[in-house]
Amino acid sequence: MDGYSPDTESSATDDRERLAIDVDGLELIYADGTAAVQGVDMTVPEGEFFGFLGPNGAGKTTTIKVFATLLSPTSGEVRVNGFDVRSEARKIRETIGYMAQETSIDPELTAEENIRFACEAYGVPRGGRAERVAELLGLVDLVDVADKRSEEFSGGMKKRLDAATALVHRPPLVFLDEPTTGLDPKARNRLWEYFQRINDLGTTIFLTTQYLEEADQLCDRLAVILDGTIVADGSPADLKREVGGEVLDIELEDGADARARAAAIAREFDAFADATVTETETGISVTAETAREYGTDLLVALRDAGLTVTGFNIRAPTLDDVFLAITGDELDTDEMDTGRSELSQ
Ligand code: ATP
Repeated sequence: MDGYSPDTESSATDDRERLAIDVDGLELIYADGTAAVQGVDMTVPEGEFFGFLGPNGAGKTTTIKVFATLLSPTSGEVRVNGFDVRSEARKIRETIGYMAQETSIDPELTAEENIRFACEAYGVPRGGRAERVAELLGLVDLVDVADKRSEEFSGGMKKRLDAATALVHRPPLVFLDEPTTGLDPKARNRLWEYFQRINDLGTTIFLTTQYLEEADQLCDRLAVILDGTIVADGSPADLKREVGGEVLDIELEDGADARARAAAIAREFDAFADATVTETETGISVTAETAREYGTDLLVALRDAGLTVTGFNIRAPTLDDVFLAITGDELDTDEMDTGRSELSQ
Protein backbone atom coordinates (compact mmCIF):
# COMPACT_ATOMS: atom_id res chain seq x y z
CA MET A 1 0.00 0.00 0.00
CA ASP A 2 2.44 2.69 1.09
CA GLY A 3 5.45 0.97 -0.38
CA TYR A 4 7.18 1.03 2.99
CA SER A 5 8.40 -2.20 4.52
CA PRO A 6 11.01 -2.94 7.18
CA ASP A 7 14.30 -4.58 6.26
CA THR A 8 13.80 -7.75 8.28
CA GLU A 9 16.87 -9.36 6.72
CA SER A 10 19.20 -6.95 8.51
CA SER A 11 19.00 -8.60 11.93
CA ALA A 12 21.47 -11.33 12.87
CA THR A 13 18.85 -13.61 14.36
CA ASP A 14 18.67 -16.93 12.56
CA ASP A 15 15.60 -19.04 11.90
CA ARG A 16 15.96 -21.09 15.06
CA GLU A 17 15.56 -18.14 17.33
CA ARG A 18 13.97 -15.06 15.83
CA LEU A 19 14.16 -12.81 18.84
CA ALA A 20 14.25 -9.05 18.41
CA ILE A 21 15.17 -8.63 22.07
CA ASP A 22 16.77 -11.19 24.36
CA VAL A 23 17.67 -10.08 27.88
CA ASP A 24 19.13 -12.10 30.72
CA GLY A 25 19.72 -10.55 34.13
CA LEU A 26 19.93 -6.90 33.03
CA GLU A 27 21.01 -4.55 35.77
CA LEU A 28 21.72 -0.85 35.40
CA ILE A 29 23.10 1.21 38.24
CA TYR A 30 23.65 4.93 37.55
CA ALA A 31 26.87 6.65 38.66
CA ASP A 32 25.11 8.11 41.72
CA GLY A 33 24.20 4.58 42.88
CA THR A 34 20.55 4.58 41.72
CA ALA A 35 19.64 0.98 40.83
CA ALA A 36 17.25 1.84 37.98
CA VAL A 37 16.96 -1.68 36.53
CA GLN A 38 17.50 -4.76 38.68
CA GLY A 39 17.64 -8.26 37.22
CA VAL A 40 15.34 -7.92 34.22
CA ASP A 41 14.82 -10.98 31.98
CA MET A 42 12.72 -10.71 28.85
CA THR A 43 12.38 -11.85 25.28
CA VAL A 44 10.49 -10.19 22.46
CA PRO A 45 10.01 -12.30 19.30
CA GLU A 46 10.33 -10.62 15.92
CA GLY A 47 7.10 -9.10 14.68
CA GLU A 48 5.56 -8.66 18.12
CA PHE A 49 3.92 -5.48 19.39
CA PHE A 50 5.33 -5.45 22.90
CA GLY A 51 4.29 -3.05 25.67
CA PHE A 52 6.42 -1.99 28.62
CA LEU A 53 4.26 -0.49 31.34
CA GLY A 54 5.09 1.21 34.58
CA PRO A 55 4.70 4.43 36.55
CA ASN A 56 7.15 7.33 36.39
CA GLY A 57 10.63 6.35 37.50
CA ALA A 58 9.99 2.59 37.20
CA GLY A 59 12.92 2.09 34.79
CA LYS A 60 11.29 2.08 31.33
CA THR A 61 13.42 4.72 29.65
CA THR A 62 16.60 3.37 31.24
CA THR A 63 15.82 -0.08 29.79
CA ILE A 64 15.12 1.36 26.32
CA LYS A 65 18.38 3.32 26.45
CA VAL A 66 20.28 0.11 27.14
CA PHE A 67 18.54 -1.56 24.17
CA ALA A 68 19.34 1.43 21.97
CA THR A 69 23.00 1.27 23.14
CA LEU A 70 22.86 4.74 24.71
CA LEU A 71 23.66 3.24 28.13
CA SER A 72 25.91 0.26 28.83
CA PRO A 73 24.50 -2.37 31.22
CA THR A 74 26.10 -2.71 34.64
CA SER A 75 25.58 -6.47 34.33
CA GLY A 76 23.58 -8.99 32.34
CA GLU A 77 23.39 -10.13 28.72
CA VAL A 78 21.40 -8.11 26.20
CA ARG A 79 21.01 -8.95 22.51
CA VAL A 80 19.03 -6.73 20.17
CA ASN A 81 18.27 -8.02 16.67
CA GLY A 82 20.73 -10.79 17.49
CA PHE A 83 23.60 -8.35 18.25
CA ASP A 84 25.33 -7.87 21.59
CA VAL A 85 24.81 -4.39 23.12
CA ARG A 86 28.39 -4.18 24.33
CA SER A 87 30.38 -5.47 21.37
CA GLU A 88 28.04 -4.84 18.42
CA ALA A 89 26.49 -1.48 19.25
CA ARG A 90 26.98 -0.08 15.74
CA LYS A 91 25.04 -2.96 14.18
CA ILE A 92 22.22 -2.45 16.66
CA ARG A 93 22.01 1.26 15.83
CA GLU A 94 21.77 0.42 12.15
CA THR A 95 18.85 -1.93 12.74
CA ILE A 96 16.67 -0.04 15.21
CA GLY A 97 14.49 3.05 15.14
CA TYR A 98 14.11 5.11 18.31
CA MET A 99 11.34 7.59 18.92
CA ALA A 100 12.33 9.31 22.16
CA GLN A 101 9.96 11.05 24.55
CA GLU A 102 10.97 14.46 23.19
CA THR A 103 10.36 14.80 19.44
CA SER A 104 13.55 15.13 17.45
CA ILE A 105 12.10 16.98 14.44
CA ASP A 106 13.36 20.43 13.44
CA PRO A 107 10.45 22.93 13.53
CA GLU A 108 12.17 25.16 10.96
CA LEU A 109 12.14 22.39 8.35
CA THR A 110 9.20 21.11 6.32
CA ALA A 111 7.89 17.57 6.80
CA GLU A 112 9.74 16.45 3.70
CA GLU A 113 12.99 18.18 4.72
CA ASN A 114 12.85 16.56 8.14
CA ILE A 115 12.60 13.10 6.60
CA ARG A 116 15.35 13.94 4.08
CA PHE A 117 17.58 15.11 6.89
CA ALA A 118 16.99 11.85 8.77
CA CYS A 119 17.85 9.93 5.58
CA GLU A 120 21.20 11.73 5.46
CA ALA A 121 21.83 11.16 9.17
CA TYR A 122 21.11 7.44 8.84
CA GLY A 123 23.17 7.09 5.65
CA VAL A 124 20.31 6.13 3.33
CA PRO A 125 21.95 5.99 -0.14
CA ARG A 126 21.35 9.25 -2.05
CA GLY A 127 19.65 7.49 -4.96
CA GLY A 128 16.98 5.94 -2.75
CA ARG A 129 16.13 8.99 -0.67
CA ALA A 130 13.34 10.53 -2.78
CA GLU A 131 11.48 7.24 -2.88
CA ARG A 132 11.94 6.65 0.86
CA VAL A 133 10.71 10.16 1.69
CA ALA A 134 7.60 9.63 -0.45
CA GLU A 135 6.92 6.21 1.12
CA LEU A 136 7.16 7.55 4.64
CA LEU A 137 5.08 10.67 4.02
CA GLY A 138 2.44 8.29 2.66
CA LEU A 139 2.77 5.89 5.59
CA VAL A 140 1.95 8.61 8.14
CA ASP A 141 -0.49 10.54 5.90
CA LEU A 142 1.52 13.75 5.68
CA VAL A 143 1.72 13.94 1.86
CA ASP A 144 -0.63 16.93 1.73
CA VAL A 145 1.50 18.94 4.14
CA ALA A 146 4.90 17.75 2.88
CA ASP A 147 5.98 21.32 2.07
CA LYS A 148 4.72 22.93 5.28
CA ARG A 149 7.12 23.84 8.05
CA SER A 150 6.62 21.40 10.90
CA GLU A 151 6.30 24.19 13.48
CA GLU A 152 2.79 24.69 12.07
CA PHE A 153 1.83 21.08 12.84
CA SER A 154 -0.43 19.86 15.64
CA GLY A 155 1.09 17.72 18.39
CA GLY A 156 -0.22 14.56 16.73
CA MET A 157 1.21 15.49 13.32
CA LYS A 158 4.61 16.23 14.88
CA LYS A 159 4.59 12.80 16.52
CA ARG A 160 3.68 11.15 13.20
CA LEU A 161 6.51 12.97 11.48
CA ASP A 162 8.85 11.96 14.29
CA ALA A 163 7.77 8.33 13.86
CA ALA A 164 8.47 8.59 10.11
CA THR A 165 12.00 9.94 10.72
CA ALA A 166 12.70 6.94 12.98
CA LEU A 167 11.90 4.60 10.07
CA VAL A 168 14.10 6.03 7.27
CA HIS A 169 16.59 3.15 7.42
CA ARG A 170 13.72 0.61 7.44
CA PRO A 171 14.60 -0.80 10.89
CA PRO A 172 13.07 -4.19 11.74
CA LEU A 173 12.67 -3.03 15.37
CA VAL A 174 11.35 0.31 16.63
CA PHE A 175 11.35 1.71 20.17
CA LEU A 176 8.53 4.11 20.98
CA ASP A 177 9.07 5.81 24.34
CA GLU A 178 5.74 7.16 25.57
CA PRO A 179 4.82 8.33 22.06
CA THR A 180 1.35 9.64 22.85
CA THR A 181 1.88 11.40 26.19
CA GLY A 182 0.24 14.82 26.11
CA LEU A 183 -1.88 14.19 23.01
CA ASP A 184 -5.64 14.49 23.04
CA PRO A 185 -7.60 11.22 22.70
CA LYS A 186 -8.38 11.78 19.00
CA ALA A 187 -4.74 12.39 18.06
CA ARG A 188 -3.74 9.44 20.22
CA ASN A 189 -6.21 7.16 18.45
CA ARG A 190 -4.93 8.29 15.09
CA LEU A 191 -1.31 7.61 16.09
CA TRP A 192 -2.32 4.12 17.23
CA GLU A 193 -3.47 3.41 13.68
CA TYR A 194 -0.01 4.26 12.33
CA PHE A 195 1.78 2.16 14.90
CA GLN A 196 -0.54 -0.73 14.08
CA ARG A 197 0.15 -0.20 10.38
CA ILE A 198 3.92 -0.22 10.95
CA ASN A 199 3.59 -3.42 12.99
CA ASP A 200 1.33 -5.03 10.36
CA LEU A 201 4.07 -4.43 7.81
CA GLY A 202 6.40 -6.61 9.89
CA THR A 203 8.17 -4.16 12.21
CA THR A 204 8.69 -5.31 15.79
CA ILE A 205 7.51 -2.60 18.18
CA PHE A 206 8.67 -2.03 21.73
CA LEU A 207 6.36 0.57 23.25
CA THR A 208 6.52 2.18 26.66
CA THR A 209 3.38 3.83 27.86
CA GLN A 210 1.58 5.06 30.92
CA TYR A 211 -1.79 4.69 29.21
CA LEU A 212 -3.27 1.31 30.06
CA GLU A 213 -5.87 1.61 27.33
CA GLU A 214 -3.09 2.12 24.78
CA ALA A 215 -1.37 -1.06 25.91
CA ASP A 216 -4.65 -2.93 25.83
CA GLN A 217 -5.51 -1.78 22.31
CA LEU A 218 -2.14 -2.29 20.68
CA CYS A 219 0.02 -4.84 22.41
CA ASP A 220 0.28 -8.57 21.80
CA ARG A 221 2.16 -8.92 25.05
CA LEU A 222 3.06 -6.71 28.01
CA ALA A 223 5.51 -6.54 30.86
CA VAL A 224 4.90 -4.38 33.92
CA ILE A 225 7.97 -2.86 35.56
CA LEU A 226 8.01 -1.48 39.07
CA ASP A 227 11.09 -0.18 40.88
CA GLY A 228 13.38 -1.67 38.23
CA THR A 229 11.88 -5.16 38.40
CA ILE A 230 9.38 -6.89 36.13
CA VAL A 231 6.40 -7.82 38.27
CA ALA A 232 4.05 -9.29 35.64
CA ASP A 233 4.03 -10.24 31.99
CA GLY A 234 1.68 -11.84 29.48
CA SER A 235 -0.94 -10.90 26.93
CA PRO A 236 -3.49 -8.29 28.07
CA ALA A 237 -6.08 -11.10 28.22
CA ASP A 238 -3.76 -13.32 30.33
CA LEU A 239 -3.08 -10.51 32.76
CA LYS A 240 -6.77 -9.74 33.12
CA ARG A 241 -7.49 -13.42 33.73
CA GLU A 242 -4.77 -13.53 36.39
CA VAL A 243 -6.57 -10.82 38.33
CA GLY A 244 -9.22 -13.48 38.82
CA GLY A 245 -12.97 -13.16 38.89
CA GLU A 246 -14.91 -9.99 38.32
CA VAL A 247 -15.04 -6.45 39.55
CA LEU A 248 -17.89 -5.06 41.63
CA ASP A 249 -18.01 -1.25 41.41
CA ILE A 250 -20.09 0.35 44.15
CA GLU A 251 -21.05 4.03 44.14
CA LEU A 252 -21.66 5.73 47.47
CA GLU A 253 -23.10 8.96 48.73
CA ASP A 254 -21.25 10.99 51.40
CA GLY A 255 -17.61 11.37 50.32
CA ALA A 256 -14.25 10.14 51.55
CA ASP A 257 -15.27 8.99 55.01
CA ALA A 258 -17.99 6.76 53.61
CA ARG A 259 -15.57 5.32 51.04
CA ALA A 260 -13.02 4.49 53.73
CA ARG A 261 -15.66 2.85 55.90
CA ALA A 262 -17.08 0.88 52.98
CA ALA A 263 -13.60 -0.30 51.97
CA ALA A 264 -12.93 -1.47 55.53
CA ILE A 265 -16.22 -3.40 55.60
CA ALA A 266 -15.44 -5.04 52.23
CA ARG A 267 -11.95 -6.05 53.39
CA GLU A 268 -13.36 -7.71 56.48
CA PHE A 269 -16.07 -9.50 54.54
CA ASP A 270 -15.42 -13.27 54.82
CA ALA A 271 -16.51 -14.07 51.26
CA PHE A 272 -13.94 -11.55 49.92
CA ALA A 273 -10.90 -12.86 51.80
CA ASP A 274 -8.69 -12.80 48.66
CA ALA A 275 -10.29 -9.73 47.12
CA THR A 276 -8.58 -6.51 46.06
CA VAL A 277 -10.54 -3.61 47.50
CA THR A 278 -9.81 -0.08 46.30
CA GLU A 279 -11.38 3.28 46.88
CA THR A 280 -12.43 5.05 43.68
CA GLU A 281 -13.52 8.62 43.02
CA THR A 282 -17.16 7.78 43.65
CA GLY A 283 -17.11 4.69 45.86
CA ILE A 284 -15.20 1.40 46.06
CA SER A 285 -14.22 -1.45 43.72
CA VAL A 286 -13.98 -5.06 44.85
CA THR A 287 -12.18 -7.53 42.59
CA ALA A 288 -12.86 -11.14 43.57
CA GLU A 289 -13.72 -14.59 42.23
CA THR A 290 -16.89 -14.33 44.31
CA ALA A 291 -17.89 -10.77 43.30
CA ARG A 292 -21.05 -11.87 41.51
CA GLU A 293 -22.05 -14.48 44.08
CA TYR A 294 -21.69 -12.35 47.22
CA GLY A 295 -22.04 -8.84 45.78
CA THR A 296 -25.58 -8.34 47.07
CA ASP A 297 -24.57 -9.54 50.57
CA LEU A 298 -21.94 -6.80 50.65
CA LEU A 299 -24.52 -4.21 49.54
CA VAL A 300 -26.76 -5.28 52.43
CA ALA A 301 -23.85 -5.06 54.89
CA LEU A 302 -23.05 -1.54 53.68
CA ARG A 303 -26.67 -0.48 54.08
CA ASP A 304 -26.78 -2.00 57.58
CA ALA A 305 -23.73 0.09 58.45
CA GLY A 306 -25.68 3.22 57.52
CA LEU A 307 -24.01 3.83 54.16
CA THR A 308 -26.03 4.91 51.11
CA VAL A 309 -25.29 2.96 47.94
CA THR A 310 -26.29 4.99 44.87
CA GLY A 311 -25.30 2.46 42.22
CA PHE A 312 -23.41 -0.76 41.52
CA ASN A 313 -22.14 -2.72 38.55
CA ILE A 314 -20.36 -6.04 37.95
CA ARG A 315 -17.88 -6.17 35.07
CA ALA A 316 -14.83 -7.98 33.70
CA PRO A 317 -11.42 -6.69 34.88
CA THR A 318 -9.59 -4.06 32.81
CA LEU A 319 -5.85 -3.42 32.72
CA ASP A 320 -6.41 -0.74 35.39
CA ASP A 321 -7.54 -3.51 37.72
CA VAL A 322 -4.52 -5.58 36.73
CA PHE A 323 -2.27 -2.70 37.60
CA LEU A 324 -3.94 -2.08 40.92
CA ALA A 325 -3.80 -5.78 41.80
CA ILE A 326 -0.09 -5.90 40.95
CA THR A 327 1.07 -2.69 42.50
CA GLY A 328 -1.37 -2.53 45.41
CA ASP A 329 -0.54 0.39 47.63
CA GLU A 330 2.85 0.89 46.05
CA LEU A 331 1.35 3.03 43.32
CA ASP A 332 0.61 6.53 44.57
CA THR A 333 -3.00 6.92 43.55
CA ASP A 334 -2.57 10.71 43.52
CA GLU A 335 -0.51 10.13 40.39
CA MET A 336 -3.54 8.67 38.63
CA ASP A 337 -5.29 12.00 38.57
CA THR A 338 -5.82 12.24 34.84
CA GLY A 339 -8.27 9.39 34.59
CA ARG A 340 -8.72 5.71 35.14
CA SER A 341 -6.75 4.65 32.11
CA GLU A 342 -3.53 6.50 32.90
CA LEU A 343 -0.89 5.41 35.37
CA SER A 344 0.71 8.71 36.17
CA GLN A 345 1.55 12.08 34.74
P1 ATP B 1 9.50 8.12 33.18
O1 ATP B 1 8.14 7.69 32.75
O2 ATP B 1 9.45 9.22 34.18
O3 ATP B 1 10.45 8.37 32.06
P2 ATP B 1 10.83 5.59 33.61
O4 ATP B 1 10.04 4.39 33.98
O5 ATP B 1 11.24 5.73 32.20
O6 ATP B 1 10.06 6.90 34.06
P3 ATP B 1 13.60 5.94 34.24
O7 ATP B 1 13.67 7.28 33.58
O8 ATP B 1 14.23 4.81 33.55
O9 ATP B 1 12.08 5.58 34.56
O10 ATP B 1 14.20 6.09 35.72
C1 ATP B 1 14.42 4.98 36.59
C2 ATP B 1 15.09 5.46 37.86
O11 ATP B 1 16.41 5.91 37.55
C3 ATP B 1 14.41 6.64 38.52
O12 ATP B 1 14.56 6.48 39.91
C4 ATP B 1 15.19 7.84 38.02
O13 ATP B 1 15.12 8.89 38.95
C5 ATP B 1 16.59 7.27 37.94
N1 ATP B 1 17.43 7.93 36.92
C6 ATP B 1 17.13 8.16 35.61
N2 ATP B 1 18.16 8.75 34.97
C7 ATP B 1 19.15 8.88 35.90
C8 ATP B 1 20.49 9.41 35.87
N3 ATP B 1 21.01 9.89 34.74
N4 ATP B 1 21.21 9.37 37.01
C9 ATP B 1 20.68 8.86 38.17
N5 ATP B 1 19.45 8.34 38.26
C10 ATP B 1 18.69 8.36 37.15
